[in-house]
Amino acid sequence: MSVPDVTTVRDTITSATAATPYQGDIARYWNHEARPVNLRLGDVDGLYHHHYGIGDVDRAALGDPTAAGYENRLIAELHRLESAQTSLLLDNLGPIRREDTLVDAGCGRGGTMVMAHQRFGCGVEGVTLSVKQADFANHRARELGIDTSVRARVCNMLNTPFASGQAAASWNNESSMYVDLHDLFAEHSRILAPGGRYVTITGCWNPVYGQPSKWVSQINAHFECNIHSRREYLRAMADNRLVPQTVIDLTPQTLPYWELRATSGLVTGIEDAFINSYKDGSFQYLLIAADRV
Ligand code: SAH
Repeated sequence: MSVPDVTTVRDTITSATAATPYQGDIARYWNHEARPVNLRLGDVDGLYHHHYGIGDVDRAALGDPTAAGYENRLIAELHRLESAQTSLLLDNLGPIRREDTLVDAGCGRGGTMVMAHQRFGCGVEGVTLSVKQADFANHRARELGIDTSVRARVCNMLNTPFASGQAAASWNNESSMYVDLHDLFAEHSRILAPGGRYVTITGCWNPVYGQPSKWVSQINAHFECNIHSRREYLRAMADNRLVPQTVIDLTPQTLPYWELRATSGLVTGIEDAFINSYKDGSFQYLLIAADRV
């Protein structure tokens, strides 16, 4: 009998805490995820994200592609754009006080949590299915000396340990495509204080296109996720006391990130599916900010 390595043991533990076999698969996916496109970008300044960027590419900062150090400048630029995405999410949380608690649902390696704490000085609680991600985020919080305020735990975001009304604001930063939206928004609605703010930044398929395009299906297969439509987001929010205050179509703002990334040595093979689906209108990158009423 072979002795399972640490990763296998951890997978087993995480799978046991997952509510469904699918969640066990997602926990495994993120426990094994170590793509340079995420880690090398995070190494730039210690903010580790698992999401995409927005905004115009700074060509002057990139410089000449044939000049020495170009790949490092490109990585720094992609990272600047993914942190700009987080800044926009935080801009939409509304006024937050130091004594407030924020909840990051599907927190990954914790980049958004750290930025939220740095901006508002408040407590931030994150949940992820992945032990490895939670360990990573907590380690990073300790390194920064903010571990009394920023904490990640392994937990299903559809069933969190937070008290009803505890959160002044909560969000999903590219993590809502792993769950049923009615279940998700019921839980956000429960933990949010009345008047609290919920924000999601997500890719969604566009009902104007008709059905999920082949590109959207490719993205689903690549990430083992289930991209919802814009219509589903708005309906599930309406059904759960979340009233949209702001809806921003970020598609034109995220395309430069993808087009730049596609030229880099960090490509993962999914770049064309994003670029094609954003261009043919079948897929959109959306921010929705909603009030808990
Ligand atoms: N929000 C982070 C990570 C996005 S990656 C960022 O912006 O960097 C998707 C994340 O969703 C992963 O951390 C994964 O563990 C988490 N996730 C997916 N389904 C989940 C669930 N049911 N409960 C908690 N986290 C979940």
